[in-house]
Amino acid sequence: MSDPRQELADLVADVHERLRADRAMGATHRTASSQEPKRQAPPTGATEPERQAPPTGATEPERQAPPKESWDDQLEERPPVYGLDHAVGAWGFSQDDLPPLPEGSAARAAAERLVAIRAELGECARCRLCEQRQKVAFGMGHPNADLVVLGEGPGANEDRLGLPFVGAAGEMLDKMLERVLGLSRAKVYILNVVKCRPPKNRSPQPDEIASCLPFLEKQLEAIGPKVILTLGSPAVKTLLKTNRGITTMRGSWHLWRNVPVMPTFHPAYLLRQPQDKRYTFDDLKAVKSRYDELGGLR
Ligand code: URA
Repeated sequence: MSDPRQELADLVADVHERLRADRAMGATHRTASSQEPKRQAPPTGATEPERQAPPTGATEPERQAPPKESWDDQLEERPPVYGLDHAVGAWGFSQDDLPPLPEGSAARAAAERLVAIRAELGECARCRLCEQRQKVAFGMGHPNADLVVLGEGPGANEDRLGLPFVGAAGEMLDKMLERVLGLSRAKVYILNVVKCRPPKNRSPQPDEIASCLPFLEKQLEAIGPKVILTLGSPAVKTLLKTNRGITTMRGSWHLWRNVPVMPTFHPAYLLRQPQDKRYTFDDLKAVKSRYDELGGLR
């Protein structure tokens, strides 16, 4: 026989846990489904974001108006990207961008390798994504960050600025990093599977991914992360060369060349499905525990 008091206590504990997750990840509202007990809403394939919410597309301004308080609204008034004014900022674009890191340091060597990879990529025309692209969004962040965050591909803002995750999904990503992991954008390295915006934010095609993959791999080799966080289905599928979807991959550890990989939902998906933030919150807590075990990230 179940004990009604225990059930009530479990329910209260569950609600507290969810409120904590929402607060940590900046939830501004709750949906009806987010108030159901956790046990009744497992992260099944039914919520698989691949079809319902293409990570780069669904939240892009031309398809869906961003919320009033969106970071995009303030794009003109504020520095365009978090971290640009930080001592370690958005580097890796050209020799002139080299950060003020000591000669001979590992960070300096990684930064120089990233500059060389960026130069090799050039004004890339290896696939059709170059046709409508404005700027290549190569990647940004600390050149030998312990944590690398891998997304899918640039959206409209990223295309305009040539930087990854600078729209609404980027704002959510920054909240995830800062509030759960205690890391500013400048301390991690953020990049995408494809560096050029797929038209109308469609998912990148296999041949487009294949053209970009050598550059992604070189970037990861140069950075040498201790942990990789992948966002959404295309990122985990590409990195781990799997066909499994994000809902079955997230929440457990995988390996890319001996580097632990934690797949989680894409922030653009979470903007549409805030009730699933709690799963990403759990995934991020697992990342935090992992890097605490590794002695903390830089
Ligand atoms: N979505 C992504 O996957 N990457 C970006 O850079 C922006 C949105």
